[in-house]
Amino acid sequence: MIPLSVPYFSGNEWKYVKECIDTGWVSSAGKYVETFEERVAEYVGAKYAVACVNGTAALHIALKIVGVRPGDEVIVPTVTFIASVNAVRYVGAEPIFMDCDNFYCMDVEKVVDFLREKTRFREGYCYNKISGRRISAIVPVHVFGNAVNLEPLVEMCQERNIKVVEDAAESLGTFYSVGKLSGKSTGVIGDIGILSFNGNKIITTGGGGMIVTNRKTYAERAKYLTTQAKDDPVRYIHNEVGYNFRLTNLQAALGVAQLEKLGEYIKKKRENYILYKKEVDSIPGLHIAETPEYCSPNYWFYCLRVKEKEYGMSKDKLLTVFTERKIQVRPIWYLSHWQRPYRSCQCYKIERAVKLYEETLNIPCSVNLSQEQRERVLEVLRDGRR
Ligand SMILES: *Cc1c(COP(=O)(O)O)cnc(C)c1O
Repeated sequence: MIPLSVPYFSGNEWKYVKECIDTGWVSSAGKYVETFEERVAEYVGAKYAVACVNGTAALHIALKIVGVRPGDEVIVPTVTFIASVNAVRYVGAEPIFMDCDNFYCMDVEKVVDFLREKTRFREGYCYNKISGRRISAIVPVHVFGNAVNLEPLVEMCQERNIKVVEDAAESLGTFYSVGKLSGKSTGVIGDIGILSFNGNKIITTGGGGMIVTNRKTYAERAKYLTTQAKDDPVRYIHNEVGYNFRLTNLQAALGVAQLEKLGEYIKKKRENYILYKKEVDSIPGLHIAETPEYCSPNYWFYCLRVKEKEYGMSKDKLLTVFTERKIQVRPIWYLSHWQRPYRSCQCYKIERAVKLYEETLNIPCSVNLSQEQRERVLEVLRDGRR
């Protein structure tokens, strides 16, 4: 079986985790949590980083912190993992779904159109002309490691007092390379950002997440809310409803070791991307999706596009062939606006997302993918033509 994406441990993981166990520091206090926060903050260029139990919890807290209230609306892409959307409901708000661009990321041009045409600014806030509700935030998701084209969007959101909450769960290691944002990491462009260290992400802590921000008040509030809103640690005073959302020292130890390897992993993923692309693009009807020219991506996932007519097989048929040959491939996420809890939500001109959903498969992309494994994947694709 060739898996789609599995973790890879080749560094100090065992050493650091063993140290936690040997010293008894396994829970949410301990030096690795702080070290992990410091190193992630430094890596992405954020002033503050607050470790969380997972990326979903980090996003939930981030939306709360920037002031999304029950009854508000939050702009989200339809092409994303469901966690980005669920977090909006956790805080009692409603999503407004947006289309994607050619890199599977939120179509910024359409968002700009939407904000110009469909909203009005009144007494310090932006309102949806159709629903009358306040739009308090937007969640750009850097999908598959491709950066959202944020430059045209951030200023516009600032002017309208729409908080930008970046979902960088999949894009640790992706940096902008062109224009005003050049040199900046994904996750630190907006007001607040989140990362994930789930098992399938580019580096993992088993489960884990991080809130990153340049605002001290946000960071302090993140720490407070994720540690049960503890106002007096001795007398158990809690003046708000908090959450048990902290990362453990064991997980953070794994994270510190993984982060040491991130550069190496990205290099490997990039090499595999280039090798795949060269071969796949020479097969009529198949194509590996490009990455945006304005960023250097982390190449987390590879998107195979299948043009059914030219290739002679649909992506669904190809998926069953892969399964028979014991190779794990997946369609991209079922579009969020089609999911049962969200079917009645507002959508804005969603077109390309449907097309890309119909054409795309994610193919094996683990850091430790061997040459033989890559060849087996390519073999299936070449055979499909015959
Ligand atoms: C993985 C992921 C999350 C959630 O992270 P968890 O750590 O699994 O909770 C959120 N958004 C996106 C886009 C993701 O890929």
